[in-house]
Amino acid sequence: MSGKEAKKETKKEANKETRQDKPLPKEGPSKSLSIEDMAVFCKRKGLVYPSSEIYGGMAGFFDYGPYGTELKNNLKNEWWKSHVQSREDIVGIDGSIISNPKVWVASGHAEQFGDILVEDLKTHERYRADVLIEEALKIQADGLSAEDLGKLIKENNVKSPKGNSLSEPRKFNLMFTTNVGPVQSEESKAYLRAETAQIIFTEFKNVFETSRLKLPFGIAQMGKAFRNEIAPRHFLFRCREFEQMEIEYFIHPKKHGECPYIDEAMAEKLMVYSAEMQEKKQEAKEMTVKDALAKKVFKSPWHAYWLATEQKWFLNLGARRENFRIRQHKKDELAHYSSDCWDLEYRFPWGWKELEGIADRSDFDLQQHMKHSKKDMSIYDEETKEKVVPHVVAEPSLGVDRSFLVFMFDAYDDDKKRGNIVLHLHPKLAPIKAAVLPLVNKLEDKAKEVYGMLKNDLFCFYDRSGSIGRRYARMDELGTPFCVTVDFDSLEKEDVTIRERETTEQARVKINDLKETLRKLVTGEMQFKDIKR
Ligand code: ATP
Repeated sequence: MSGKEAKKETKKEANKETRQDKPLPKEGPSKSLSIEDMAVFCKRKGLVYPSSEIYGGMAGFFDYGPYGTELKNNLKNEWWKSHVQSREDIVGIDGSIISNPKVWVASGHAEQFGDILVEDLKTHERYRADVLIEEALKIQADGLSAEDLGKLIKENNVKSPKGNSLSEPRKFNLMFTTNVGPVQSEESKAYLRAETAQIIFTEFKNVFETSRLKLPFGIAQMGKAFRNEIAPRHFLFRCREFEQMEIEYFIHPKKHGECPYIDEAMAEKLMVYSAEMQEKKQEAKEMTVKDALAKKVFKSPWHAYWLATEQKWFLNLGARRENFRIRQHKKDELAHYSSDCWDLEYRFPWGWKELEGIADRSDFDLQQHMKHSKKDMSIYDEETKEKVVPHVVAEPSLGVDRSFLVFMFDAYDDDKKRGNIVLHLHPKLAPIKAAVLPLVNKLEDKAKEVYGMLKNDLFCFYDRSGSIGRRYARMDELGTPFCVTVDFDSLEKEDVTIRERETTEQARVKINDLKETLRKLVTGEMQFKDIKR
């Protein structure tokens, strides 16, 4: 479930009262690249387009182009492999986007899921009140009630971005509605899911009974979510249709302190920004998980474990450590049922922003569904020989589109020496794994033979047009890690040149060994420097 609902619950309460396979070059990508420049680049390279642009577009909706689709699919596959397929304690599901509306009543979304908006009284443009205040006053306003936001606006005479007076803040529900069936009425009203997580709770019992899981265990899901955001902006960062990759991790209610995997995370360094540090206006501080646990920064080792695991996932795929930090929610941001919540944040060009929320949700959701559906959600724990309603000790909830941006920003490098942009994408994420290039058109037959040999195993690109330098540059800009050049020697010696994107170095490889060499280079089983020359 989401941070947004947590915020709404807060308001309700208030009312009541690994390893990096290939290190990136030291100089790194240009951090001066704005999100607008990134959107222009993504469109130019066929990664992402504004949706239905021929009709003027639609705010908050995007279409992934040929290379963006590949990159996004690779990212999702890597997440699924590492979070589901390679783990014995997590299984995956793929739930429906529309479900019985009672699901969203029980979860609280139908009533509570929203943000607080203010209106420019002159232009009638609408803004998210907390975002407007954060930008105007440089304070954290996430989770504040409409009343508190209204007070801040009045006391500080906050105006709209156009300089006009603002309306009183008011609640706005973000759930998209639709009608199911041939009759359009209140009875046929349904919701597009605002998060993938609720389907995990409604299927909890089915999954438990059919997958031989034992506590502690997780259920994962990735897929589309829809939110009628008040002010979608910053390109893919805040869309109205987006994708999430979420896990609900269930434990025995009395075992918050026992995480059997914590040793795997102990050495991981995290830039910690605890609630206490924020309250005392201190800077975030780097510490290992081991140190942070010793200092009791985390209430449960599970939180430390999941934050470290999630950060490691990004770093192993080439993201840059210095752009990550973990921020704990302050008391006024927490839902009443949540004892702790941390965000994995990324340093976007416009500041540190949430990339992934990891909340402790206790048994709130299962209890809600138990109450509303009148179905028993408890399970038998073999170890303690008890029937229990498990607690969700952590709910890692990550946006696919925000992750896409992270990998793009950390890979983007306007390389002045080469005179072209280089995307230093991890080979596992790169849309195209290898380009096959005949040095001159006369060599097309041989080059096509090489391409034909590779294309069923690796996503390859065949390019015959332009100078070889121009073709290398085009591939650098798409992050293609390897270019295979077929030259006149290839005809006699049955070998080709592999050019590595990262170093521009070249190595000669027998055509017979090419497929296996490229496979090993892409998976990281072999480094380019280790190719026998
Ligand atoms: P924010 O405070 O930025 O609105 P949130 O707290 O509402 O985010 P969650 O409900 O916790 O976000 O959702 C989990 C994850 O889903 C987020 O960390 C983010 O990566 C992604 N996400 C949420 N809303 C959007 C959106 N409108 N567009 C793209 N990704 C989103």
